Amino acid sequence: MTRKTSAYAIRTCKLCGKRLPANEMVAVEKKNKARGHSRSGISLMTWIGAALEDKNSRSAINRWFFNSSKRVYKGDVAVTTIRVCPDCAEEHQKLNGSNKGFFSGCLTTILIFFFIVGVLLVASLFIRVP
Ligand SMILES: [Zn+2]
Repeated sequence: MTRKTSAYAIRTCKLCGKRLPANEMVAVEKKNKARGHSRSGISLMTWIGAALEDKNSRSAINRWFFNSSKRVYKGDVAVTTIRVCPDCAEEHQKLNGSNKGFFSGCLTTILIFFFIVGVLLVASLFIRVP
């Protein structure tokens, strides 16, 4: 059993450093975690403060919305394609799949929920039935 010299160039796995012919490599998407949890310090208390018409909280929220929309639409999360060995590809999919997507989806839902609650509370203070 002789191993034929591969017609493919040998590539190095970006994650574990294993060397394999290019055709055995798997392309995976790698997201650069440019977005952390340092979104100009907004918290649950900020939302509650806004609901209670605290001026500092409201300006913090305005800043936050301005910043986050700027960040999201300018494509802060850079997706690059890297070539890795099948083992690493599997591992990568596991890490990238359910966990993170679920978490960030949850976080967005929670933030939207508090935003709506805040808006409703603030609105109820202005729209008073005499
Ligand atoms: Zn690997």
